[in-house]
Amino acid sequence: MKDDNFLKENNARHLWHPMGHPADVQANEPTIIKAAEGVHITDIDGHSVVDAVGGLWCVNLGYSNNVIKEAIAKQLYDLPYYSAFAGATNPAAIEASYAVREFFKEDGVARVFFTSGGSDSVETCLRLARQYHRLRGEPTRTKFLSLKKGYHGTHFGGASVNGNNRFRTAYEPLLAGCFHLPSPYTYHNPFNETDGAVLAQNIAAAMEDEIAFQGASTIAAFIMEPIQGAGGVIVPDASFMRLMREICDRHGILLISDEVITGFGRTGDWSGARHWGVQPDMMSTAKGITSGYFPVGAALMSEKVADVFEKDTTGEGAIYHGYTYSAHPVGAAAVTACLSETLRLDTKTNAAARGTQLYEGVLQLADKYDIIGDVRGGHGLMTGIEIVSDKASKTAMDMATMKRIHKTAYEAGAMVRLGGHNVLMSPPLTITDDEVNVILGALDAGFAAA
Ligand code: PMP
Repeated sequence: MKDDNFLKENNARHLWHPMGHPADVQANEPTIIKAAEGVHITDIDGHSVVDAVGGLWCVNLGYSNNVIKEAIAKQLYDLPYYSAFAGATNPAAIEASYAVREFFKEDGVARVFFTSGGSDSVETCLRLARQYHRLRGEPTRTKFLSLKKGYHGTHFGGASVNGNNRFRTAYEPLLAGCFHLPSPYTYHNPFNETDGAVLAQNIAAAMEDEIAFQGASTIAAFIMEPIQGAGGVIVPDASFMRLMREICDRHGILLISDEVITGFGRTGDWSGARHWGVQPDMMSTAKGITSGYFPVGAALMSEKVADVFEKDTTGEGAIYHGYTYSAHPVGAAAVTACLSETLRLDTKTNAAARGTQLYEGVLQLADKYDIIGDVRGGHGLMTGIEIVSDKASKTAMDMATMKRIHKTAYEAGAMVRLGGHNVLMSPPLTITDDEVNVILGALDAGFAAA
């Protein structure tokens, strides 16, 4: 490794960063995180803070899980790579597919298709949804429905069902045939509805209306996050996902649950759909599947979907889709180890308890600071705080103030994430109550500096 001076000099010179303006990154050099332990990250100047973001909503088991690290190292020596394209496979992939299937058995998962991350998993679900309908003799079912404020990654399909124009505009035209319904976001919505249950009914009516307009026989799937993450931690009413499930069933539309963030315990249950009492037809997963230690995702299929592919006798059921690193043995070894650790540590239980602590602590801060417009969370370790410059008009806080909040919180002991004028938090699910209190103290300092 080059020395610190080299790293500082070249910090922003050669690397284009995802989700940032290259000129802005060069002008405001990024923090170099050099080491991590437990739930703490340490920068190149030796400043150590609680990682309230968990990497990028992914380091569910913290940074020091040696079971995963050793499984990765061992696999690198046993077999560093072999593909799982039709006709070949590898032992690690077989074991990992078994582990994932067992993990999500209660969600009705029957088959596992490995990918390299969340965007790949979403893309896989969207593509296989179209193929599913074609195999069933309904090739006109090609359109997708999704929610505004949803985030489904950055591939063209995922970006097309994405509900935030920040991730869309520069890359248009996107995939044709994608239509967006209002988000179950009580703080701002076109119905001016603050009651989550009534809002859920309004969105259900809007969905029925859109389906009638498009024609059910043209719609392949509806994709949603059980709790919208990057869009600002938008927690729907408990009735919402069940309503969506009912509507999808009534119209022959597949329900894809995008569990890239909500899977593997983050919501306080092993999947977000399970948290709301729903079984999806497909699930897209990533992040917590390896706790971020290796880039892996998985698209998961229910028996209903799997059957249509497996019983096909025409040859049209061949899956001409996949990635060089689908079922990568090192990634697969990370998956098996991570899931076994996730179950052993029962991280969903801690996520529920510490999530409530974090949410309630932030609600107390909301009494103290007028700039806190809305606090969302209370279902596991996903918390969003919407910052406003004027509470009555709910005007978004300016970005200079948001950056000051972020910087001050960092100096006071916690890395948080900014999503526009939202402060987003998704710490490792292994966090302790003392460490949650450190985050709350850092937020207090950040808001005081606003
Ligand atoms: N879906 C959801 C719900 C996500 O939150 C993300 C990433 N934050 C993605 C898809 C895309 O995942 P990746 O960045 O691994 O491609």
